[in-house]
Amino acid sequence: INYQTARFEASYGTVAQLPASTTPEVAVAGRSNVGKSSLLNKLFGRKGLVKVSATPGKTANINFFEVDGIRFVDLPGYGFAKVSQKEKQRWADLISGYFAQERSFNLVIALVDIRHDAQRLDHEMVAFLQESGLPFVVALTKADKLGRSKQAQQAAAIARQLGIDRDQVVVTSSETGLGVDELRRRIAEACL
Ligand code: GDP
Repeated sequence: INYQTARFEASYGTVAQLPASTTPEVAVAGRSNVGKSSLLNKLFGRKGLVKVSATPGKTANINFFEVDGIRFVDLPGYGFAKVSQKEKQRWADLISGYFAQERSFNLVIALVDIRHDAQRLDHEMVAFLQESGLPFVVALTKADKLGRSKQAQQAAAIARQLGIDRDQVVVTSSETGLGVDELRRRIAEACL
């Protein structure tokens, strides 16, 4: 997969607008501020391609990127405290509406901050992925903020909390590039 070819495809505010799925898709989800934009930019090797997180007042969308015939689906970050209940519901509807469609779900990358125990919304996302039988990995973000032994400790703890195998977890950092090659390997395995 040639990540140099990464390009922004389009942004959608409602599920009804999403074009049909015609290529393998890799969806990326996580709480807002988990480091999703930073990790996608690192993965693509393109600093500003993915705009940084939505701020209050800004509408959350589903953004499509295309890399060498593979579609990357940037789902809206969930759990942002400072938006109205109505807006939260809209974001949740976008995410569940995406997964309810008939699409090529090759891999879901669920992002969780390595520094904290898995939060309620992390649990809900992973439980949903397991129940749906969707192929997924959990990428732990911001690993550079912890030392090596603490990283290993948290990876094991969060896997246990989420009820998944340790090898379904990839430790990453957008700061140092840790885990990005491993993520690319998992993506290639899932899509090629
Ligand atoms: P998003 O809301 O999930 O898209 O998160 P962003 O990518 O915008 O990142 C949220 C904040 O975390 C920003 O201040 C980033 O600079 C910071 N951040 C993201 N990834 C990392 C990382 O790997 N290491 C460190 N130290 N900070 C990070």
